[in-house]
Amino acid sequence: MSHLLSILVQTPAHSPVGGPLSYKSELLLPPGSLVRVPLGTRETLGVVWDAAQHDASAPVAEKKLRYVASALTGLPALAPGWRKLVGFAAGYYQRSLGEVALAALPPQLRDLSEQQLQRRLLRSPAPQRPGGDAIASAVPMQLSLEQQGALAAFYESIGTSLLFGATGSGKTEIYLRCVQDLLLRDPRAQAIVMVPEINLTPQLQARFMARFCPLFGEQAVVALHSGMTNPQRLKSWLAAHFGTARVVLGTRMAVFASAPGLRLIVVDEEHDPSYKQQEGARYSARDLAVYRGRLENAKVILGSATPSLESWHHSRPADQGGRYLRLEMPSRIGPQSRLPQVRRVDMNNQPRRAVFSPPLLDAIKQRIAAGEQSLVFLNRRGYAPVLQCTACEWKSDCPHCSAYRVFHKIDRTLRCHHCGYAEPVPRACPACGNMDIAPVGRGTERLQEHLAELLADVRRPNSVSLQKPDGEPVHITRIDADSTRLAGSLQSQLAMVHSGEVDVLVGTQMVAKGHDFRRITLVAAINPDGALFSSDFRAPERLFGLLMQAAGRAGRDADISGQSEMWIQTFHPRHPLFASLKRHDYPAFAAQQLAERERAGLPPFSFQALLRAEARTQEVAQGFLNAASTAAAEQLADLPGFALVTLYPAVPMSVQRVANVERAQMLVESPSRIALQTFLAGWHAVLHATRQGAAGKGLLRWAVDVDPLAI
Ligand code: ADP
Ligand code: ZN
Ligand code: ZN
Repeated sequence: MSHLLSILVQTPAHSPVGGPLSYKSELLLPPGSLVRVPLGTRETLGVVWDAAQHDASAPVAEKKLRYVASALTGLPALAPGWRKLVGFAAGYYQRSLGEVALAALPPQLRDLSEQQLQRRLLRSPAPQRPGGDAIASAVPMQLSLEQQGALAAFYESIGTSLLFGATGSGKTEIYLRCVQDLLLRDPRAQAIVMVPEINLTPQLQARFMARFCPLFGEQAVVALHSGMTNPQRLKSWLAAHFGTARVVLGTRMAVFASAPGLRLIVVDEEHDPSYKQQEGARYSARDLAVYRGRLENAKVILGSATPSLESWHHSRPADQGGRYLRLEMPSRIGPQSRLPQVRRVDMNNQPRRAVFSPPLLDAIKQRIAAGEQSLVFLNRRGYAPVLQCTACEWKSDCPHCSAYRVFHKIDRTLRCHHCGYAEPVPRACPACGNMDIAPVGRGTERLQEHLAELLADVRRPNSVSLQKPDGEPVHITRIDADSTRLAGSLQSQLAMVHSGEVDVLVGTQMVAKGHDFRRITLVAAINPDGALFSSDFRAPERLFGLLMQAAGRAGRDADISGQSEMWIQTFHPRHPLFASLKRHDYPAFAAQQLAERERAGLPPFSFQALLRAEARTQEVAQGFLNAASTAAAEQLADLPGFALVTLYPAVPMSVQRVANVERAQMLVESPSRIALQTFLAGWHAVLHATRQGAAGKGLLRWAVDVDPLAI
């Protein structure tokens, strides 16, 4: 006798068949089983979702159903918690179940037959038992009083905690302790630890491996991120799925790891925007972590020195409605250790057009003379953001985007950072033939060049380069997305910084985040003003976080932290954001921002979604959005909570055209998350119908972004 099964397969993003498909099977396979099923002319990976209902009204159709080709019987079924997480994510982020489920599995699993999988499983080493010696050898350091307090409160807690700890306060040590205690207490327990960009933080992976591999075996810590090859990812995934791996360390994708013994999820630098996926199912791994914790009864720790305003708001006292426990560690580790002193340079009083104000330049020279390192931070890569003809109106527009192409001097190209279109720099102005075309503004490449000129006469102190008694020229290195394109180049550049070969490090936000630099005592933000007056309501939050993070790179070694400084060059030295920064006062900054957001009805006091559309013309893109809005008003007005939902008119996106495609968006907002979710669920069918109708003619793509980070 055959059984009827509902099975999820990979479906195209907006195919109307988003739900499970029905198949017949000789075996009764439990939900969560992985199978291979025929789909059209090919065979594909599927996940058994639930036993399908026998539909008595359609006995004939049932006969036409196809059989499951094979079951991957070597793999235990995916746990109910995992399936609920996928179900929730698909519903909440408005994507099909099949898409979310299959995207949450390692890509290589799609291509392996049952036999290939069996061979792979045989190759995986068996789980290792910890030895007594290993336990003794891993006695960790004495915790600070603040760390002890945070840990004690964490053990008393249930649900989600927000670890609000200054940079260098020892948050990582707290994560290590929580994980270690859990794994020792419960031999089946597993933890997921997420970081925003694992490629930038091999240090963290090394720390976890050093701590846990002696205790729990070589396979105890596995990584899961997009920088890995497909076979590596499959190996990690299998280790977690079988429970051999006790700690899964990864980027946002790790939130979907199959971990049947899951008891703890850590989200480090929880405020980081890279936890939000920006294509496909646009999920927030931070928010899903909190949800998954609740589903699977696992504790969740969100850690940050500058939490997202959402998490900060959720961690207000419980009697004011807070849902997370706030754990505070305001001080850096070490008796003498202090956060860097913040110095604002009023650029109104500096020589006109100075990129480095004279006092900042002096300070950098002094650090070099003392054998210390400086970090110069500018959040724009390339040489100059635009080239301009000095005789006519010509600028280096991208022919395919509504954006300028950036001048990269190193290979003399004009490169569009939106569509990738690159061309050699023209010898003369393409419009008027003038030979004089000049860079306008500056990026890190030009900053490095300029600084090298300014420091040309400075020599490194003798103690640093003993071989050359007269001293060598100053070493300036640059770390950004361009300088680290080659595999391994970031690691070798970082190694140079750590070894002390480098005097000044110039970089983008890439260097501001997370790295444990020991010799940097001065950090300078060259031109952070842009974000102060941005139309994006999250820009101040991001700027504050970035500057606090950047400041956190200075003086991480307690012996030298006393003299460490963070310099801010600004034309608005009295801006309240900088005033809070100077006092390292995140709570004051957050209070001011939250008050503003509450007045304006912005998140976290309201909930948002964006409907985006792309077409060859703005009219078509906006036409689709406005038609979807009209249809919603006509068809969904009876939905509960509809009156609480506001649909705004369609507008062009801030970069309106990319790669010759016009982009538009429409904001949907509600003070009630439930009302918004109810609306979006109802809108789904309306959107599909609108796409099929006249207003969908010429439309290339559409997508819904729930809880968007940039609007
Ligand atoms: P954070 O993650 O909060 O920025 P880390 O956990 O990286 O801070 O800690 C900063 C430094 O302090 C690290 O080098 C770490 O090894 C060290 N550290 C952490 N806790 C202690 C402690 N209790 N005693 C001594 N050193 C510690
Ligand atoms: Zn010209
Ligand atoms: Zn372009």
